[in-house]
Amino acid sequence: MDEKQVLIAKELLATPKKIVIVGHKNPDGDAVGSTSALSLFLKSQGHDTQVIVPNDFPDFLKWMPASEDILIYSQNVTQANQLIKDADIICTLDFNSFTRVGDMQDALTNATADYIMIDHHQSPDDYAVLTYSDTTMGSTCEMVYHFIDAMGQTNHISEAMATNMYTGIMTDTGSFRFASTTAKTHNVIAHLMETGIQHHKIHEQVYDSSSPERLKLLGIALNNMQIFPEYKTAFITLTQKELDDNKFQKGDTEGFVNYALSVKGIIFAAIFIEDRKNNITKISLRSKGDFNVNLVSRAHFHGGGHNNAAGGKSDHNIEETVRYFISILPQYKDQLLAHA
Ligand code: 5GP
Ligand code: MN
Repeated sequence: MDEKQVLIAKELLATPKKIVIVGHKNPDGDAVGSTSALSLFLKSQGHDTQVIVPNDFPDFLKWMPASEDILIYSQNVTQANQLIKDADIICTLDFNSFTRVGDMQDALTNATADYIMIDHHQSPDDYAVLTYSDTTMGSTCEMVYHFIDAMGQTNHISEAMATNMYTGIMTDTGSFRFASTTAKTHNVIAHLMETGIQHHKIHEQVYDSSSPERLKLLGIALNNMQIFPEYKTAFITLTQKELDDNKFQKGDTEGFVNYALSVKGIIFAAIFIEDRKNNITKISLRSKGDFNVNLVSRAHFHGGGHNNAAGGKSDHNIEETVRYFISILPQYKDQLLAHA
């Protein structure tokens, strides 16, 4: 944050405020971690806070400190709308456009509160009095740490806040391996560890909590993988029937797409997941190096994200979506093959 932004933040938070903190639809570790950490921090500063997310989040994040206090909009519409209406300040974390909050979009558009945005995605919309946007950051949780630092308050970071921030940094950096991980990230992690967090437990709770059905589904996903070496591309498919046969639970397919990216020589990976209930095919895209999947998702799949991780959807069935995906590969051939 620059000096002007710090002054705006300090002024906004100078007296106790009613603050609503919002994460994006289908909340991930960074969304749950950043909203919960900021909520705990602002509470410790005397503010009245409430985290609201559009819909439920996976069980492997439900152990996170204060995650039980998160209000799920889809299950509490009236109460959530009232909180949004009454808020003095609304902080939007880990997203930068109201199109990312599903059914909460109208409530946010109509709110009279001052907005604070903390986010690391590309192309932020212009709705906040304080837009703290930094696309070089690997996670919003790391930005929440820098926000607290800018307020001169890192000595007030509790173990619970630190556990939340560690979790989001860990999940959004692929356990500190993506290019977005920097020395600065590790410095933040070092300070978070000094608060006494049990980092090994965090890794276990997030990554070693699979049901046997999830691992069977992974087996099917890997079996369905198709590889196109001539485009350095691999993709995975999962049909609704395959999900149903393996008692699919929210979050079960998290990380599957990375297996396609782990094939030697592959720099572009995708997963296509059939969603019969909503009549769509959900898509996750991942890449290595300069190949920009945010642009691919924006151009072809009504989505977006980061250079190396993006998501989107198609209104066509899974077979048609896959056929379409294969059909667009030639237009990216030069870029895909340019990767060393
Ligand atoms: P995932 O593939 O894990 O769902 O998402 C990867 C990244 O893409 C995340 O940063 C997420 O915020 C972003 N993303 C996922 N789905 C969408 C979408 O429908 N629209 C936009 N703009 N971004 C998305
Ligand atoms: Mn994030």
